[in-house]
Amino acid sequence: MNHDINIKELQKNCFRQSKVPGEFMLQMRVPGGVIEARHLSLVQHIADTWGNGQFHLGMRQTFSLPGIKYENIEAVNEYIKSYIEDIEVELCDVDMDVNDKGYPTIGARNIMACIGNSHCIKANIDTTTLARKLEKLIFPSDYHIKMSVAGCPNDCAKAQFNDFGIIGIAKMEYDYDRCICCKKCVETCAHHATGVLSVEKGKIVKDTCCCVGCGECATVCPTGAWTRNPKKFYRVIIGGRSGKQYPRMGKMFLNWVTEDVVLGVIGNWQEFSAEILNHKPVYLHGGHLIDRAGYDKFKEMILKGVELNPEAEVADKIYWAETEYRANIHVKPACNTK
Ligand code: SF4
Ligand code: SF4
Ligand code: SF4
Repeated sequence: MNHDINIKELQKNCFRQSKVPGEFMLQMRVPGGVIEARHLSLVQHIADTWGNGQFHLGMRQTFSLPGIKYENIEAVNEYIKSYIEDIEVELCDVDMDVNDKGYPTIGARNIMACIGNSHCIKANIDTTTLARKLEKLIFPSDYHIKMSVAGCPNDCAKAQFNDFGIIGIAKMEYDYDRCICCKKCVETCAHHATGVLSVEKGKIVKDTCCCVGCGECATVCPTGAWTRNPKKFYRVIIGGRSGKQYPRMGKMFLNWVTEDVVLGVIGNWQEFSAEILNHKPVYLHGGHLIDRAGYDKFKEMILKGVELNPEAEVADKIYWAETEYRANIHVKPACNTK
């Protein structure tokens, strides 16, 4: 193996070291997990020409191409220039110069999303479009962040296990006169959601404490008595993570916020990271960064300049269990070493 190979530089360039000496796996971004199928021919060409003929559907919805030899990385980077232009610049409107050197950084990881309302009958939001708007805000950045967007609280996108998880929710409207008391909504809420509906005097009542805004009741109502308010709302979960050091599920930071609020918050992420890390990017889960700053400071910085909509709710405090929390975690001096 060539001992002059700079593994960290290659990781930053989105080439992951293989157990086979001198081989690497390219990770190509697919923000929101949706692109046109025509791009598959480019993926196939890379795999057949420089890789081992296979690709892995990466755990963060990347195209991951293993078996690329070190000496072919330059050629691969030249070849993916058109892909990066198509996806990042054309599709996501990312402000970046694309050259023949491949991806500039891996700090901000690929944004995951479920299929959302382009297909799923349960979806409250357009996850794909939101993921692309978020990509524009966080890429390219050396500051590490993992983000996922779910179209409804079913959370197929595992938003609750990301630094930022964004979940589409809906305010439900009940039309008393259209209700025929078939109880389908009561049963489905009890079975699929939080069981907050009951029948009183032939009509439906809701315990507003615990409605999660999933919209299941509207999905099953045969008369259209339950409908989603057309205004789109979001829940923002923070601090979720997998991994060896203090894995944990995220907790609710914002509830019933608009898309403008979500974009404002994520738009502040890089500045927040820079300040907490003294402008030196390191590989550190965003949740650890929030722990290090403390929730109050995080809240103050991340909401700076963000105008909250009237329905917005912000968590006053967030408490983690002792086994989930460590503010003074040791950090390695590179953002790209995972
Ligand atoms: S999270 Fe909701 S919207 Fe997304 S795929 Fe799952 S059920 Fe559908
Ligand atoms: S939106 Fe609320 S009331 Fe309707 S099914 Fe979901 S939790 Fe139940
Ligand atoms: S599903 Fe619709 S019609 Fe049936 S009880 Fe619920 S609100 Fe009424």
